[in-house]
Amino acid sequence: MEKNIKPELNMEKIVSLARRRGFIFPSSEIYGGLSSCWDYGPLGVEMKRNVKDAWWQAMVHNRDDIVGLDTSIIMHPRVWEASGHVSGFSDPLVDCMNCKQRFRADLLEGDRCPNCGGDLTQPRQFNLMFKTFMGPVEDGASIAYLRPETAQGIFVNFNNVLNTTRKKLPFGIAQIGKSFRNEITTGNFIFRSREFEQMEIEYFVKPGDDEAQFKYWLDERLNWFLSLGIRKENLRLRQHRKDELAHYAKDCYDIEYFFPMGWSELEGIANRADFDMKQHSLYSGNELSYFDEETKKHIVPYVIEPSGGVDRTVLALLCDAYAEEPDRDEIRAVLHLHPSIAPFKVAILPLSRKEPVVNTARAVYSSLRRCFAASYDDAQSIGRRYRRQDEIGTPYCVTIDFDTLDDQAVTIRDRDSMRQLRVPVEQLTNALQAKLNGEPFETLPPGGKHWLGF
Ligand SMILES: [Zn+2]
Repeated sequence: MEKNIKPELNMEKIVSLARRRGFIFPSSEIYGGLSSCWDYGPLGVEMKRNVKDAWWQAMVHNRDDIVGLDTSIIMHPRVWEASGHVSGFSDPLVDCMNCKQRFRADLLEGDRCPNCGGDLTQPRQFNLMFKTFMGPVEDGASIAYLRPETAQGIFVNFNNVLNTTRKKLPFGIAQIGKSFRNEITTGNFIFRSREFEQMEIEYFVKPGDDEAQFKYWLDERLNWFLSLGIRKENLRLRQHRKDELAHYAKDCYDIEYFFPMGWSELEGIANRADFDMKQHSLYSGNELSYFDEETKKHIVPYVIEPSGGVDRTVLALLCDAYAEEPDRDEIRAVLHLHPSIAPFKVAILPLSRKEPVVNTARAVYSSLRRCFAASYDDAQSIGRRYRRQDEIGTPYCVTIDFDTLDDQAVTIRDRDSMRQLRVPVEQLTNALQAKLNGEPFETLPPGGKHWLGF
């Protein structure tokens, strides 16, 4: 991670907004919290689902060559021997003999404890997998692990998927799910935690096609992040140095985002060659291969793996969307979230709590919520309600006032420009749909007019 700091945004602002508005809470907070564990609140869970839905739509539903999978978190322990995680997935740790703190040897400068200056032990390898026991007996035979990546569930199902879908190379298998790593160094909010969610594709290709496919996936995945509205200048591809590459990887790039703490990984895209397929064939005694109808030969596919973090994507989206802008005499905090990601697409705001207005507002709300994630807010002044919706990234607010009762029209207010349109109620759903799909806000529906408003 490079240490160039983003000057205009600090992480505390994002953490504070996320907590204050119900995006993300510290885990087990009433017990004082649990280090590096986080809970997604009512708005956070919507946003996170939107990220996963956008990924699934683009990577599975919109393509002919990728199918989905949802495998168990606990797998046969031999899986982790075959994958190399039992022997190789570890960090070298040292302990301070004085204050007992633990550090990663490879991140230390000097040979004294950075905390108290005490003597350090020799480095020992510490495996990052969470270990547990299956069944009632806690002995060596019942050891199991929480998966440290979703990828292995895909590899071990290669034959099942191939036999049931009859896919031809190249094809991919996609999975979204939780993974667990007992990291020594966590932090930067939800960026690095011990329990996290991954979005992974294993894309199987003919050996020899792997380099071209690898290039294709670099572009494809970078474009996906751009499609969520993340600014281009805050994204970059970084190739791994030879000494960073996992022993099996032929090549690897990170898609990095310019977080407040500097450029950091959102997603890794690796050319894993045939390492995993060969390892599981060897350890399981079941051959993982593909029969090529053209050459009448069995081949072991190469694997391109785009592996992204859900939580990191949520954090990048929050950081990228956050702004403080002048609004009349004040400053407003606003999340310029892409509509597909915003927890609510529209908020319905009645200008009165009197019956005729409320009845109309309720009717508008119940018809809109059939089409969009919508919220209803009638507390406090209209200015404060706009401010609240801006802060959680709601793209459009619809206000219902006393005039609505006469002209059967409502006002749509745009989060980004704060401009307003007056639109007939019967045109409202179509108008919102068009704007959520990218139509310029100023485009008027039939019977609509520009509005100066409040
Ligand atoms: Zn110490």
